[in-house]
Formats: sequence, C-alpha cells, structure tokens
Amino acid sequence: MSRNPAENQLNIYKDNLKEKSVATTGNGAALGTKTATQTAGERGPIVLQDVHFLDELSHFDRERIPERVVHAKGAGAFGHFEVTHDITKYCAAKMFEKVGKKTPMAIRFSTVGGESGSADTARDPRGFAVKFYTDDGVWDLVGNNTPIFFIRDPILFPSFIHTQKRNPTTHLKDPDMFWDFISLRPETTHQVMFLFADRGIPDGYRFMNGYGSHTFKLINADGKPVYCKFHMKSNQGIKNLDVDRANELAGSDPDYSIRDLYNAIAKKDYPSWSMKIQVMTFEEAEKVSFNPFDVTKVWPQGDFPLIPVGRLVLDRNPSNYFAEIEQIAFAPSHLVPGIQASPDKMLQGRLFSYADTHRHRLGANYLQLPVNCPYRVAVKNYQRDGPMNSTDNQGGAPNYYPNSFGGPEPCEFARKLQNSKFHVDGDVNRFETGDEDNFTQPAIFYRRILDEPARQRMISNIANHLSNASQFIQERTVKNFAQVDVDFGRQLSEGLKLRRSANL
Ligand code: NDP
Repeated sequence: MSRNPAENQLNIYKDNLKEKSVATTGNGAALGTKTATQTAGERGPIVLQDVHFLDELSHFDRERIPERVVHAKGAGAFGHFEVTHDITKYCAAKMFEKVGKKTPMAIRFSTVGGESGSADTARDPRGFAVKFYTDDGVWDLVGNNTPIFFIRDPILFPSFIHTQKRNPTTHLKDPDMFWDFISLRPETTHQVMFLFADRGIPDGYRFMNGYGSHTFKLINADGKPVYCKFHMKSNQGIKNLDVDRANELAGSDPDYSIRDLYNAIAKKDYPSWSMKIQVMTFEEAEKVSFNPFDVTKVWPQGDFPLIPVGRLVLDRNPSNYFAEIEQIAFAPSHLVPGIQASPDKMLQGRLFSYADTHRHRLGANYLQLPVNCPYRVAVKNYQRDGPMNSTDNQGGAPNYYPNSFGGPEPCEFARKLQNSKFHVDGDVNRFETGDEDNFTQPAIFYRRILDEPARQRMISNIANHLSNASQFIQERTVKNFAQVDVDFGRQLSEGLKLRRSANL
C-alpha cells in the first residue's frame, strides 16, 4: 500500500542515512547499553552512579517549553520571497530593491484559541506569520488569515483571549464568556462575521489568504513615508471546509492541516502566495472617512487598490519540528530599515507583547537560536551575556556606547529609514473607542461580499453557537447584528427561537 510522505517519514530518513551512528551520552561519550539501568543486583535498586539514566530522565522532565498562550497549534515550512514588481518608490528595504531578488523565508500557520493538541479544523482565525531573513536583518510580518481583528485597543487583549479559552471553574469552552464579551464590545462584529462565514474554517493552510492586518509605514530612499497594508493572496485559491466535514475531521484527523502542508511540500506541490500592498499617503490618512489605524476596519480596495509586489513560495519542510517551528519566534517588533510601525494601537501593544513572550518561552537570547537569528547579517550591539548564550558573545568588542574603540556605530542608511518624523498632537488620555463606527464595513460585507446562500450559512453558524449562551446575552448579540442589517438581526432572532423551541 502506498503511504504518503508524512506517514513514511522514518523510512525516508533511513533510506537517506549514509552510515549508522553510534549512540552517545549528552556529553558525547559512546554508550555501551541503552536498554538497562545500572542496579545493585539483578532486581534493583538503581544506583546513583547511573548518571546516564539520571541525565536521560532529567532532560525528559524538561522537554516542554511553555506553550504559546495563543497560536499554540501550528505548522510551518521554509522557502523564499521573490520580488516581481518594483515598489522602491514606496520602500527602501533591501528585500524589495530589485525585481527578481529572492529572500529566504519561513511561514508558521496556526489556529488561535486551541491548545497545542487541539483540532486543526476548529472555527477560529488562522495565524499567518512570515519571517523574512533579509540582508538588513529579520523582518517578521505576523498576520492572520483575516485583514481585520476583533478589538482595536490592546488593553482588551488578555480579557478577549480569556473568553476564547476555558472557563476557570469548569475548564470547558464557555459560550457565555465568548458571547458576553463579543456583545459588550461591538467592535468585534466585523471579525465575528468573517469567523462565522465560510472562510472561518479554511481547508488546511494552503487555501487561505494572509494579511498583515495592521497598518504599517514604508519609507523610501528619500526618507518619505507612506502608510501600507500587506496582503498575501493564495495562488491555490480559496477553499473552505463545510461544518460537517470539519467536525468529522476534528475526530478522525485533528492534525489535518499540518499533514496537508507537510505532504504537499514533500510531494513538491509547493504552495505559494502573491504579496500585494495597499498604500495611503499621510495626507489621505488625514482625510479618509474612517480611522486608518483601526484594525477592525479594512481599507476599501476601490479607493486603495492592491499593488503587486512579489511571490512567497514554501518548498522545504522543517527537518525538526521543535527546533524549527516550536522555537520559531515571530514579533511585529522585528522590523528592518524601510518598514516601520504605524500608530495602530493594537500593533503598538503587539510590539511589546510578542518579544516579551519569547523571552519567557525561550529566554533572553531567543534571537540566537538558528531559526530565529538574522543569519544574513552580523549582529553587533551592546547586549551581552544572559542564559544560554550560544555565540562568541561578541568577543572582545566594547560592551558600552559611546566608545573610542571601533564602535559598532549607528549608520546613516538606517537613520534615514528608521527615524522618519511624524506629527502627533492631542491630550494624553485613555480614549474610549468602543463606539467608533462598528457597523458600516460589516454592513458592506453582509450586503455586497456575501451572497444569499453564504449569508444563510453564516447566520446558521452563529445561531448554532450563540444558542448555547444565556438568553440575555443572545438578545444583546442579536441587537448588535441588527445594526449591521435589520434583516440579519431578524433572521438570527428567528433561528435562535427555533433552536430554543426544539430544545423545550
Ligand atoms: P472589494 O470588493 O474590493 O474586496 C472584497 C474582498 O473580500 C476581497 O479581497 C475578497 O477576497 C474578500 N472576500 C470575498 N468573500 C469573502 C468572504 N466570504 N469572507 C471574507 N472575505 C471575503 O471590497 P472592499 O475592499 O471595498 O471591502 C468590502 C468588504 O470586503 C469589507 O468591508 C470587508 O468586510 C471585506 N474585505 C475587504 C478586504 C480589504 O482589504 N479591503 C479584504 C477582505 C475582505 P478575495 O479577492 O481573495 O476573494
């Protein structure tokens, strides 16, 4: 019987083995036996001097690093980005300097809310995080498969994620927690509609788009900035799973998306995405009718058309999942000259949170791990020491700045591209944003993007999930959706009533 590459991995490994290797201890000494502990007498007990056994168990006890709080379950692969169109008038990042230029790249896809062992086919946004190993250092574009997000102020993020996770008493997913938060924060409406519409359960990771989601800033060689959004459109097309098939797969093959990606790449059916950008000038940003830094909103493509940039191709599976995927550490703060953050509050929150998480999960020197290190440049800075430092720790170079002994010194190229000035005024305050036009774009999505059967499927998916919440929460949620479209609210209300009477 023919087996797919994922099933056959160990045989493939063996076939490629040049010679048999000798088993050793962690400190590299050859081992004479691997199948018996050292004991006093045939029946035991084990002696303390069996250091190999002690080392084996104590290492095993430390195998797990903390699971990511979000995006715990994922798959990843490696490949390259190739420039297909010139965008140097907007961006001076070396990665985009000429058509045809290739930059090595990694992508990790993930679900968001579930634990590391959860089902790949859950209705959940999908992470779409890209790491570019550029000539200027590592640039991470840490996005999702949706161009928007649930909330626009990061102070709500921990609470929002708690509502997607387990109830602290029952340790169960809790529809009251989920819909209570959603209905109390109507800025979630747009993303919740994406989630419960067809693209809420993609058919694996190859058949979905990726989006940088936030607004970023690009700086050209003259130091001129523009705002920008990134889109990665799947060249495989969009394919989604219907609810029944997704539920069936959650039981029969919970690792469906990991398997699909691994096998496609192993069979040389390399998935690819086309990178496109939208660009907005600072003057346009002042005048546009919505807040362009609000991540619950898209930039309409009619007003800000997609500009082609390049192609991302995945053509290598990880050779070791833990080393290359579990330890891969994406952070929106990993920016390179020519690409900067915008004032988007969610992005500003993430600039801190991601690197902070990696310092917790992997340690202060996480950027030295092979999969994370910017290996195409030499890192020269004033950071030293820390746990598990695995480099030469920058040898005899001065560890203070300024110094009279050869730097390293900041450079003009980066100064121009990293410190582009922008004007800010206004009072320092905590500005509430809960009511900032939560329904205009969801209404466009409902009326123009979804066709009638897609609307019906979305309403039915919401009703099935929402019907498990308390009735007062159901009613408040219906009121929100009725502000998108009266008919949407009415149909949802009827769907919920039907489900209630069926349960009586
Ligand atoms: P456009 O008609 O120019 O673009 C609509 C977009 O919707 C396309 O990018 C399309 O992606 C995407 N789309 C189609 N079906 C679905 C679906 N079922 N779920 C999610 N996305 C879908 O319209 P506008 O730019 O004026 O935006 C109108 C509305 O479209 C927005 O309010 C937003 O809800 C939605 N949208 C907008 C995006 C943007 O960046 N402007 C991106 C995605 C959605 P594709 O071409 O890949 O099929």
